Amino acid sequence: MKRVVILGAGFGGLELSSRLSEELGDGVQVTLIDQSDSFVLGFAKLDVMFGVRQPDEVRSYYRDIVKPGVTFRQETVTSIDPVAKRVVTDAGTHDADILVIALGADLDPDATPGVVEDGNEFYSVSGAAAARRPLEAFEGGTVVIGVLGPFFKCPPAPFETAFLLHERLEERGIRAASKIYVLTPLPAPVPISAEVSQGILSELAARDIEFWPTSKVTALDPAAHVATIEDGRTLAYDLFLAIPVHVAPPVVVSSGLTEEDGWIGVDLATFATKFPDVYAVGDVTSVPVPRAGVFAEGEAKTVGDVLMTRLRDGGDAPPYTGQATCYIDFGGGLVGGANVEFLGDGPPHGTYSPPSEHGAAEKKEFGVSRLRRWFG
Ligand SMILES: Cc1cc2nc3c(=O)[nH]c(=O)nc-3n(C[C@H](O)[C@H](O)[C@H](O)COP(=O)(O)OP(=O)(O)OC[C@H]3O[C@@H](n4cnc5c(N)ncnc54)[C@H](O)[C@@H]3O)c2cc1C
Repeated sequence: MKRVVILGAGFGGLELSSRLSEELGDGVQVTLIDQSDSFVLGFAKLDVMFGVRQPDEVRSYYRDIVKPGVTFRQETVTSIDPVAKRVVTDAGTHDADILVIALGADLDPDATPGVVEDGNEFYSVSGAAAARRPLEAFEGGTVVIGVLGPFFKCPPAPFETAFLLHERLEERGIRAASKIYVLTPLPAPVPISAEVSQGILSELAARDIEFWPTSKVTALDPAAHVATIEDGRTLAYDLFLAIPVHVAPPVVVSSGLTEEDGWIGVDLATFATKFPDVYAVGDVTSVPVPRAGVFAEGEAKTVGDVLMTRLRDGGDAPPYTGQATCYIDFGGGLVGGANVEFLGDGPPHGTYSPPSEHGAAEKKEFGVSRLRRWFG
């Protein structure tokens, strides 16, 4: 029986293990490894930061996974040999016939001076929980939401943060005494689609939220509370909410799997790496799609098809088109969407769905349906 070892139980690893179990049951031996005991949907971190839910309320525990053929192990991967397909963890060694890397992107707050001291990173669950305190203590002034690197999870998330912050400050009666800025190195909110970008820009303008594109923050001065931007401009703030530089997990880099750009290169049809029988999906790859759960999930579906055709009947799996809907929470119970396609026919493109209650219901169902599918 083939041994499939999947490293990382996030969007990519959970979807792939579910799919293999669904299709092959006990006919395949899947070992799913993650250092954590639980999974958290990306957007739930905003709930944690804004005090809507406690960290414990957003966790789905891996111990609840009961799927034929799948064994979950809570272990930290310490080395990967992609030639031998051998993985060493803090608890032992795993040999694979097929190895899939789905370890996501790590945050590197140290990459930008001053961020650890004054940046209030909110992209991890612990960071989001910690950012809640300064947010609650904020009594008016300037809040800067700063994207610190060109690749980051969920391109709409900085804007969602701004919209939800606007709503909270209004509720607390301190919005008029506050300024909100979103700074990003990108030239537009969603560079591949003028329509989606314009939709987001209109909603920012309607709430008097300042947007500074092409503005990469290179350092924070924690004593003076001043952000320095790459081109020399500065911006004083009272509260900085940082989206730190993202990097591939160190264990992936030291394994020799990454390319010069720091991410794992893959064949876009199969998600095979340069090493035979080693695949990679999700945020850890350099696939030209945004870093987002919907894409990691779509890639995992494709790898599932590729592996099933290999393990079962042969033939080609349908190509991955990089098509997805990214939901955008505008606050007030309204959610819009960016319907995008990156790898289909023609150049990457996208259309915009304006905020609506229907969108909010769809986003809710998106999260609920994934947790139901992966955790039963
Ligand atoms: C605030 C916010 C909002 C978001 N909103 C959305 C959204 O609305 N829609 C959307 O699609 N996406 C959203 N995302 C992005 C989404 O969460 C990620 O892009 C997605 O989780 C990537 O999936 P992945 O499988 O590649 O990696 P991950 O889901 O990050 O999984 C990687 C796993 O690898 C594990 N791991 C890492 N290193 C090791 C190691 N050495 N040993 C063992 N385990 C290890 C980690 O613990 C983790 O569980 C959001 C993200 C954030 C932060």
